[in-house]
Amino acid sequence: MSEYVCAKCRRDLEDTAINRVGMQCSYCGSKIFYKKRPNIRKRLIAR
Ligand SMILES: [Zn+2]
Repeated sequence: MSEYVCAKCRRDLEDTAINRVGMQCSYCGSKIFYKKRPNIRKRLIAR
């Protein structure tokens, strides 16, 4: 089970390709991933 999701299309990383450059979404090409958390809606609030 992947614990990362694509930052753009929100697909699980397990559905995406991991190439020699590193993690890259095979659907949208994004290289930005979020780590799944139990509370995904929680955000840091910078003041
Ligand atoms: Zn993607």
